[in-house]
Amino acid sequence: MKKTIEFKASEKSIDKFNKWIKKHDLVCKLKKKKKPRFITYCFTPNGIGSSIVVKCSCGKGSADVTSIENW
Ligand SMILES: [Zn+2]
Repeated sequence: MKKTIEFKASEKSIDKFNKWIKKHDLVCKLKKKKKPRFITYCFTPNGIGSSIVVKCSCGKGSADVTSIENW
């Protein structure tokens, strides 16, 4: 059996992410130039859940989308 590590984001975190990316799209250089861009998801387990920080590869955008529903 393969060993896997799985991180889950709650619906609320995804909502927060969607709101952030919409705002960020307006200022993101990579998006404006239609260049490939990547979103990094940083999951930090804290024992009772995970805090989640998302970062755009343009280097100018990041957001904390932690929801206590992940805890
Ligand atoms: Zn960006």
